[in-house]
Amino acid sequence: NLTDKLDKAFHILKGHGKITDVNVADTLKEVRRALLDADVNFKIAKDFTTRVKDKAIGSDVLTTLQPGQLMVKIVKDELTELMGGETAGVNLSGNPSIILMSGLQGSGKTTFSGKLANFLKTKKNKKPLLVACDIYRPAAINQLHVVGDQIGVEVYSEPENKNAVEIAQNAIKHAKANGFNVVIVDTAGRLAVDEQMMNEIANVHAAIQPHETLFVVDSMTGQDAVNTAKAFNDRLDFDGVVLTKLDGDTRGGAAITIKSVVNKPIKFIGTGEKMDAIDVFHPSRMADRILGMGDVVSLVERAQEQYDEEEARKLQKKIAKNEFGFDDFLTQIQQIKKMGNMKDLVGMIPGAGKALKDVEIEDDAFKHIEAIIHSMTPSERSKPSIIDGKRKIRIAKGSGTKVEQVNQLMKQFDQMSKMMKMMQGGAGKNLMRAMGGGM
Ligand code: GDP
Ligand code: MG
Repeated sequence: NLTDKLDKAFHILKGHGKITDVNVADTLKEVRRALLDADVNFKIAKDFTTRVKDKAIGSDVLTTLQPGQLMVKIVKDELTELMGGETAGVNLSGNPSIILMSGLQGSGKTTFSGKLANFLKTKKNKKPLLVACDIYRPAAINQLHVVGDQIGVEVYSEPENKNAVEIAQNAIKHAKANGFNVVIVDTAGRLAVDEQMMNEIANVHAAIQPHETLFVVDSMTGQDAVNTAKAFNDRLDFDGVVLTKLDGDTRGGAAITIKSVVNKPIKFIGTGEKMDAIDVFHPSRMADRILGMGDVVSLVERAQEQYDEEEARKLQKKIAKNEFGFDDFLTQIQQIKKMGNMKDLVGMIPGAGKALKDVEIEDDAFKHIEAIIHSMTPSERSKPSIIDGKRKIRIAKGSGTKVEQVNQLMKQFDQMSKMMKMMQGGAGKNLMRAMGGGM
């Protein structure tokens, strides 16, 4: 993938204490090839390497002690710039704010509509209404209802009505009458760009005058994505792009090229099928990710978000009073799990992604621990010191584990309790927050 290729490119520079014009030229050739392989448009890749070269020469890359690192920085800065530089938000100025989804069938519009509703509801305190304007397939309306049920967001639909404009307009009336402050309109897409689809979405667009029109595109479709983006932009002059399916083999290519071609910011990325697999797009973090440096900032943010402050305070009190028990331990594990898929998280740690590439990390790495704790009685959980040899055997049997595993958990728990006692007080408090429950 792109990251590996760029790694190889920089390797040429890293391998040399001293570098020459030839090394730089070789490196840039590799960088360009990597970009092309990732479906970045030829002209963009060429312009890109030219700019990097100019910058490299301008900043005397040849005379610095660590030319490789300087090059990485220049490439990273340029990549960031290419993908838009700053983070762009979504326009929520209206009441209700109207957001229209556009894009081909299968691009991920319906899924993303749900993710966005969930994001606005939980992170921005909004009351969103989802609107089913995919009038061609009854299954599409159902799909949105399923999504709405999952996230606890109302879905407006008129299964008998075959007029998307009318449905959208009625939905907005319904939103105004019922205190919804965001309306997310999911629309029908076709497998390829065609006139009928374009007319329909353009009509809906004209009728409801959305504050935000988002173009949703499957990042796996490479160069096609760019052509589709152009077609939709010509008709809708959309406000931003959503790149979905960036969870697989990360092809940064679409992100890089789309921004350059339609000159509209990428606002969100989709990284999975679940409702919380949505991230605000940060050009510099994407550049980091492409360069394989790991998305540390996202990792820390996610950890902090998921860590419930209230829980932290309760926990503090318990530790202070020496009442920390296995139930609390279980809560901690659940906090860690809430942070997301283990593999995703590990992948964001610099270096780890690569080191662990061949190691299978199970999502349910905590399965045994949970099973053991569930096999304890309430009094054993709150007062672990009463767990003697006999109880251990019973717990191991009950949880389908071995006594050694129970012992190991007891030991871990002991160490953690001790550590947490030590962390009491000012510094400890912050440390615990920073660790986001990952103790
Ligand atoms: P629509 O036709 O544009 O409404 O697309 P859907 O929302 O129905 O999505 C099409 C398929 O892509 C579904 O199977 C989704 O689960 C899947 N999908 C959507 N977004 C993502 C994503 O970010 N990652 C992955 N892996 N799958 C996604
Ligand atoms: Mg759909």
